[in-house]
Amino acid sequence: MSVFWAKLIWCLGVIGWFAIRYPHDRRSRRTPNRHRSDPVRELLLLTLSAGGMLFVPALYVATGQPEAADYAFQPILAWLGAAVFVYALWLFYLTHRELGRNWSVTLEVRERHVLVTSGIYSHVRHPMYAAFWLWAVAQALLLPNWIVGPAGLFGFGLLFFLRVGREEKLMTDTFGDEYRRYMDRTARIVPGIY
Ligand code: SAH
Repeated sequence: MSVFWAKLIWCLGVIGWFAIRYPHDRRSRRTPNRHRSDPVRELLLLTLSAGGMLFVPALYVATGQPEAADYAFQPILAWLGAAVFVYALWLFYLTHRELGRNWSVTLEVRERHVLVTSGIYSHVRHPMYAAFWLWAVAQALLLPNWIVGPAGLFGFGLLFFLRVGREEKLMTDTFGDEYRRYMDRTARIVPGIY
């Protein structure tokens, strides 16, 4: 594999990501909310995350900048990155199928929100965020640049760590003991570890 192909795979992964999300995004706009959590903070975190996972790598793919931070391309890492991206897409698809109308891009509670604890959600509480972490790992493996590669890990890491505790509090406030028991028997993103 060459750098060209690695960049193309990154682009295809992102297109696949949006294709999976598109129908859910449309439905989400029509689903009424009961509670919205701090929209300004959410928008800021989403922008930072998109900066690291979309804008910085898209600029790199289009222009090759910042070229000074490039390192020697390793095909084996890029192959691994491609495999991780495929796995991330599959996980992303599953989580959307499972969450259905309960999904939202920012922290929200829907009218008639249902707590999902089955399927992939019986193993971890945040499988969609796990899929985003895997996307960020794939980016780091596919793009041979010291700034652009890890940018997704930084961007999404900020969103994740500044959001996950608040999300769990929102779920506990909404679902009470049902969510507390669910927390007792599941990990956040890696079964049995974290
Ligand atoms: N953190 C989850 C969901 C991300 S989408 C994951 O990574 O898979 C974010 C929205 O999902 C939040 O607004 C919250 O209301 C909702 N949510 C989170 N966990 C949920 C669950 N187990 N069941 C139903 N809705 C959930």
